[in-house]
Amino acid sequence: MRDVAGTAADGALPAAALPVPLTVEVPGDGYHRGLISCQAACPVHTDARGYVRAIAEGRFEEAYLIARGPNPFASICGRVCGAPCEAACRRGKVPRVDDDGAFVANDRPISIRALKRFVCSLAGPEARMPAAVLDDVRRYVPAVCADADEMAALLRGAIDGQIPLASGQKVAIIGAGPAGLSAAHDLALLGFKPVVYESEPVAAGMLAVGVPAYRLPRELIRREIAVIEALGVEIRCNVTVGKDVSFEELRRTHAAVLVAVGAKSSRALGLPGENGPGVLGGVDLLRAVSLGEPLPLGRDVVVVGGGNVAYDVARSVVRQIAWDAARTAARLPGTSRVRLVSLEGLEEMPADTVEIREGDEEGVERLNGWGPVAIERDATGAVTGVTFRRCVRVYDENRRFSPVYDDAVRQTLPCDSVLLSVGQAPNLSFLAEGGTDVEEMRPGWPKVDPVTLATSAPSVFVAGDLAHGTRLLIDAVASGKAAARSIYRSLTGHALTPDTLTAFLTLPGYRRERGYESIRRVAVPVAEPEERLKHPEAEVETGYTAEQAMREASRCLDCGVTPVFDGSRCVLCGGCVDVCPTLCLKLVDLFDLAPSADLASAVDRDLGPDPGDATAILKDEDRCIRCALCVMRCPTDAIAMDRVTFATSWRTA
Ligand SMILES: Cc1cc2nc3c(=O)[nH]c(=O)nc-3n(C[C@H](O)[C@H](O)[C@H](O)COP(=O)(O)OP(=O)(O)OC[C@H]3O[C@@H](n4cnc5c(N)ncnc54)[C@H](O)[C@@H]3O)c2cc1C
Ligand code: SF4
Ligand code: SF4
Repeated sequence: MRDVAGTAADGALPAAALPVPLTVEVPGDGYHRGLISCQAACPVHTDARGYVRAIAEGRFEEAYLIARGPNPFASICGRVCGAPCEAACRRGKVPRVDDDGAFVANDRPISIRALKRFVCSLAGPEARMPAAVLDDVRRYVPAVCADADEMAALLRGAIDGQIPLASGQKVAIIGAGPAGLSAAHDLALLGFKPVVYESEPVAAGMLAVGVPAYRLPRELIRREIAVIEALGVEIRCNVTVGKDVSFEELRRTHAAVLVAVGAKSSRALGLPGENGPGVLGGVDLLRAVSLGEPLPLGRDVVVVGGGNVAYDVARSVVRQIAWDAARTAARLPGTSRVRLVSLEGLEEMPADTVEIREGDEEGVERLNGWGPVAIERDATGAVTGVTFRRCVRVYDENRRFSPVYDDAVRQTLPCDSVLLSVGQAPNLSFLAEGGTDVEEMRPGWPKVDPVTLATSAPSVFVAGDLAHGTRLLIDAVASGKAAARSIYRSLTGHALTPDTLTAFLTLPGYRRERGYESIRRVAVPVAEPEERLKHPEAEVETGYTAEQAMREASRCLDCGVTPVFDGSRCVLCGGCVDVCPTLCLKLVDLFDLAPSADLASAVDRDLGPDPGDATAILKDEDRCIRCALCVMRCPTDAIAMDRVTFATSWRTA
């Protein structure tokens, strides 16, 4: 008996006959590593699998250290990360069936972000002094699944002499956002002296002056940054490059300059009536709220936009109004309201579902499918309303933004304040003095090499939102770390190269917890809407208890473990196919597979030039829940559960 293991690349396996050849992928290098989809989707390749499984087993401190390994913003991410890992989580792809076996819906992904919050609050800077956190983080070497962004990879490289440390050259970083500070963190580890120049009175960029405190407590930000400072990073707040110090001077006095100024300016729409009092950019409003500055706002507010930032704006205004009303109830006349008007219909809104739901709960009135036409003002110039027209389609058939309007259907919403949350742009005016050799890619955005993050100007690099456009906080962290390595290469002349050692470990007797496959996602606890509005900084999410966290974590499929099939032992009994609870296995004739170069070389390697009537075993990876029932059932030990392990280290050429 001979067989070849493959995996169906075109979705669920057909139940009966196979009318067309199946396109399959033959597991090759990196295949099993790629199946840890939470880790693969994280821009800094955090081993989410590792910390989720550690939480399930009650190893909370270790879980924190795994989460912190590649990410200096782990605690902040635990509160507000956009969590691409959750979007990719394989548990969210497993079909749920009813008692009759009929498909009901896909399962829900693991609440990876909320689990990270849980361990950070126990073992991170929220709970301990910076030096204690740093000591533990420095000492921790991940046992499995350690990718290139791990702090341990840099530390080990330095200790074993693979990475000669720099000799304390000063690197100027403009902007103390997540990109600038992550670069500073890694540059300090690589032997540089990073100095961060920040125009705001506080560090952390949009996290401190954009993300509202009801999602991200300010004390937590301060504590996370104190750990970065404890590495020797100097942060100079209240210094605006271009005003307090010139770009030219920074270039003259530092070995390299990293520009990480983000995209801070609210984009305008160019509407009639847009310029003047009563119309404000959404991020300008959030900045004023964050810094406790007076708000030039009325009590009847229209927010234009349908994304997460628009919700941060609308929900912040709702809180400010409720807070003012609570303190001065007798003096405030009439009602107040906040309306959020989005071009998209509800289904297409870019905001996360949780933002829309919580905004609805808190009283944000949502109007979908309207595009702004003009801001209306009275004879004194005061805003009186916004006129909108019906938007009948936002995206074209290729999913490109291409709105179509019905001009005949219009409405004017009366209001006294308008907040525009339709995107942000950078401000690089400081380049005028000493930075004219930084070429632009398009107006206002620098030309950047996507790999080295270098600009056209010598020793000037770019990171974060400025390098890749507005994305998530964790993208900015990844970009800052990549910029640090690139600056190292440029200033020391040593090429940094990652080496990855991958190994497979057979796990005899592998078993999962009883019933793990049927546990429902544990809802992330949140405060009641009326509690949220009692104070503008009252946290919405209250976090898992240890019991809730362990239960939620136990749903993880541990995708680093996988059944591996040995064709030389298989007797084609079909027991594994019968026992598999998710019907993800199938035995098929080799001739039923669509020919491909991969398949041909696997057949040639395993079966030789004359495969005869060989059989292949196919596995639908989206469905496999790593239960090991196939392993237990197999009468010839032809199937084993293997754990993929890998460790990356850096070396210089
Ligand atoms: C309102 C809002 C909410 C968000 N919420 C989330 C979220 O929940 N989850 C998530 O994953 N992402 C979120 N994001 C996105 C995330 O915050 C950004 O992607 C990230 O902060 C970008 O990091 P950065 O370091 O590139 O830039 P920034 O964070 O913008 O930092 C740039 C820093 O440079 C400083 N600077 C600018 N010009 C100068 C100068 N001339 N001199 C000195 N300093 C200067 C700025 O003051 C700022 O502090 C949000 C963004 C906004 C605007
Ligand atoms: S099930 Fe677990 S290991 Fe698999 S992708 Fe989700 S969190 Fe990661
Ligand atoms: S581990 Fe479980 S779900 Fe995966 S193939 Fe084996 S029996 Fe099926």
